[in-house]
Amino acid sequence: MKYAIALGSNLGDSRSILESALSRLEGVIARTRSAVQASSWYQTKAVTLPNSPPQPDYLNGCAILETDLEPLELLAKLQHIESEFGRVRQQKWDARTLDLDILLFEDGIFHSQMLNIPHPRMSDRAFVLVPLAEIAPDWQHPVLHRSILELARSIDASDVRKL
Ligand code: ADP
Ligand code: MG
Repeated sequence: MKYAIALGSNLGDSRSILESALSRLEGVIARTRSAVQASSWYQTKAVTLPNSPPQPDYLNGCAILETDLEPLELLAKLQHIESEFGRVRQQKWDARTLDLDILLFEDGIFHSQMLNIPHPRMSDRAFVLVPLAEIAPDWQHPVLHRSILELARSIDASDVRKL
């Protein structure tokens, strides 16, 4: 199965954290038959809740994985990798050393208490769409029926800067 994943970090040495997370991901899914294709890294402004203190910029990127893992199995692997890199779940949208989200899987829709695919907020996040458009421009969003490139072009991406 083909998945699109988003990676983000705004605490610690983000670049090396993201790169190590990608290698861990390759290692973790290698047992199943895997390939990982990654975008460039992008420096982006943190999205914060109203009245919360400012946060450091993020480093974001996306990857495409080919794996036999089912959606919930992949989520468990991603959360395990997040915890290895010291992520402690605190407030929603707090600064974090590593965030790994599942964006898309094939042209599928998956809903459970723990996991929603397509990721419900991906279509209004330039920090997701811009890197994803670099590696998967023609992938159709299964709910919006528009390509990633179309979605990326339709939002303001002025806060997303390729490294
Ligand atoms: P966010 O990524 O939105 O900033 P978190 O990383 O703290 O927030 O994730 C909160 C919860 O979101 C996780 O416990 C996970 O179960 C759930 N979740 C729902 N859909 C997804 C998805 N597509 N990818 C990753 N996590 C998801
Ligand atoms: Mg997350």
